[in-house]
Amino acid sequence: MAYVDKEVQAAAKVLSEKLKKLEDKRAILRAPELVALYDRIKTLPAGERAAFGKEVNQLKSKLEQLVRQAQSFKPKALSSIDITAPFDINVPPEQKPKLLTADMGSQHPLMSELATVLDIFYRMGFTAVESRELDDDWHMFTSLNFPKDHPARDDYDTFVTDEDLVAPAHTSTMQNRVLKEFKINLENGKPIAILLPGRVFRNEDLDARHEHTFHQFEGVYVDKDIHVGNLLATFKTFLQEYYQQDLEIKTQPFYFPFTEPSFELALSCPFCQKKGCHVCGYTGWIELLGMGMIHPNVLKLAGIDPIVYTGFAWGCGLERLVMMKYGIEDIRHFHSGNLKFLRQFSLEGIWYDV
Ligand SMILES: [Zn+2]
Repeated sequence: MAYVDKEVQAAAKVLSEKLKKLEDKRAILRAPELVALYDRIKTLPAGERAAFGKEVNQLKSKLEQLVRQAQSFKPKALSSIDITAPFDINVPPEQKPKLLTADMGSQHPLMSELATVLDIFYRMGFTAVESRELDDDWHMFTSLNFPKDHPARDDYDTFVTDEDLVAPAHTSTMQNRVLKEFKINLENGKPIAILLPGRVFRNEDLDARHEHTFHQFEGVYVDKDIHVGNLLATFKTFLQEYYQQDLEIKTQPFYFPFTEPSFELALSCPFCQKKGCHVCGYTGWIELLGMGMIHPNVLKLAGIDPIVYTGFAWGCGLERLVMMKYGIEDIRHFHSGNLKFLRQFSLEGIWYDV
């Protein structure tokens, strides 16, 4: 602000410099330079007092405004916090809520078992691609050789959004995508070997063996001269690695639109070695999953020549596999959030008192 009176102008300059150095900005309003200006008014001839007094008041208003600004921006003294830390680290010990801390948690058994499954297939040369949790009708059915309005679609009753997006009922919805994406492998003389783990959804009546949300891992393998023997050997090798014992497998014919021929695979019961127990229903065998040779139409829709290349695929339920490994009797335990159930699978196997 420009002041006409030289005296006010000089005082404004001094006060402005002083204000910058003051810790308590309010002190400027009691500064001797300002008090002196007010005292000066009384000494002036009557005709000059009004103009001079107006400039002094303007200067005071300006200083008051600067003090208010400084006060509102005054930084508060706060101790630093680590915003990336779990919430309880930034709280004084006496205020800590009595809740579980991160180090008391453990990996969910399905995820640690999936890591084991992936490890076995990595060693067999497979690459993992995560499945989607929202897809479209074309990938869910059409790309897999389901004719429109075919009754086989009814076996995959799942959830649909208002926009006609589908919560996938099987990881096979990814087949067309990975066949297209990894087709280049075939051109380079390498196989397509993909594992597709993911969450899938079914509109099911819930019971000990049926959940609306569960996990599958799909296997897709394509190369020249691939036959059923390769499929059975691959999956038997996996099962023996997973259950760490020699197992027998057997197949029976089944129907899937996207594989031809299709099978249901059963393995010899890992608990009773075929003698019969409650896990296998005293039959010695456990039906585990569906599989088969990829239908030529599925290969064609992905731009792969079924005359030159053949392949196999399976879709295996992860929960079923894990339930058998640990003798878990009810699939609903996995999503129950029940800590008594989950802690049995923590690495330390420790029970915490909460
Ligand atoms: Zn058994």
